[in-house]
Amino acid sequence: MSKHSPLEPALRQKALRVHERLCALYGCPIAYFASKDPLSTLVSALLSHRTKNASTGKSFRALVARFPTWQQVRDAPTAEVEQAIALTTWPEQKAPRIQAVLRQVTALRGESMSLDFLGELTVAQARAWLERLPGVGPKTSGAVLAFSTLRKPALVVDSHHHRVAQRLGLIPPRMDEGPAHAFLAAELPFDWDAQKLYDNHEILMLHGQRVCTFHEPSCGRCVVLDQCPFGRQRLGLTTTEPAQNQTSQYELFPADAAKAK
Ligand code: SF4
Repeated sequence: MSKHSPLEPALRQKALRVHERLCALYGCPIAYFASKDPLSTLVSALLSHRTKNASTGKSFRALVARFPTWQQVRDAPTAEVEQAIALTTWPEQKAPRIQAVLRQVTALRGESMSLDFLGELTVAQARAWLERLPGVGPKTSGAVLAFSTLRKPALVVDSHHHRVAQRLGLIPPRMDEGPAHAFLAAELPFDWDAQKLYDNHEILMLHGQRVCTFHEPSCGRCVVLDQCPFGRQRLGLTTTEPAQNQTSQYELFPADAAKAK
């Protein structure tokens, strides 16, 4: 088995250990934050790229207040859609993108544009269908499947989740967010249900927001310090020093090593 396989037993054990500790810290099961239908979740996810949650929410509400149906959004002058979502980042790119997605959904599914049929597909099939749409990658397809009323077992990896996973050595050092979705999902038990995969994403994201922040990770008070090569190096703890359940097999990557100095 490749050293960088997500199926490597020590890596899977470590992923579980991290999950259990962060679940205890943040209180699993985590309540779902939304219950929109899948098409609304898709539009919301497209709005959310590089945008804070509060601004995404305001833009979504402004959009549906101005255009009560997705057919109206699809057919509206693009400048008006852009104006409605002005609080997001890059509204001039997102407005035509959202309209292109809605046109494509119409072409594939008809005027109703319902995406409820995705609930009948496997996660892999549903992801593949969604990722044929313009601008839809693994994060957006995962969000549609996991966060909408579909409640499918699909792992989402946002930038916080990705950063924490990278520092912990749960993914190879230079793996981007896109491929990290399949890699991190493969480390977790195959029979986990939607709630457990949702919890896994939420707790790693929360940890990235509250403890393992981009500029100033609080490694000294981190419950997974003993699992983390980046944190241990940052605190001057040698990787050979005995650490309970230390299983990392990825070397600290150069970019973070430089930041740690
Ligand atoms: S030890 Fe530090 S770098 Fe590692 S996960 Fe915890 S806060 Fe992040």
